[in-house]
Amino acid sequence: MILCSACLLGIECNYRGGSNLNSRVLKLLDKNILIPVCPEQLGGLPTPRENAEIIGDGYMVLDGRGKVITFSGKDVTQYFVKGAKETLKIVKLYGIGSAIFKQYSPSCGSGKIYDGTFSKRLVSGDGVTAALLKRNGVKVFSEEDI
Ligand code: SF4
Repeated sequence: MILCSACLLGIECNYRGGSNLNSRVLKLLDKNILIPVCPEQLGGLPTPRENAEIIGDGYMVLDGRGKVITFSGKDVTQYFVKGAKETLKIVKLYGIGSAIFKQYSPSCGSGKIYDGTFSKRLVSGDGVTAALLKRNGVKVFSEEDI
């Protein structure tokens, strides 16, 4: 059983109200059970919603040293932290050990995220949910890793 960003499976949960359907991820369903989650929806954010980026990285947000800010400057940190915690509950309920998460997302991004300036610049780091799952021993891959 593998946790999966719901948008990669075609669920229309991304900030634009669309999906990020990925055919390679979909193909994994032939031999695996993928559990779809959208941490931002689980955290209570609407769809569509305003684009958001992390000031810092996911670990800093979890430790209260970073923030998640929307393009217009609204602090949405609490929703991202809640979404990460709710996702971790699902991980524990099912004993899930690995996840395939959408690259660059402020929630699901693993290894690279946007730098918080809304200028499409990438920096090393993990999204808030990816960071919490990694801290709890989950192996997090991106759609680019498969
Ligand atoms: S939070 Fe994750 S699952 Fe939800 S839309 Fe963003 S990348 Fe996809």
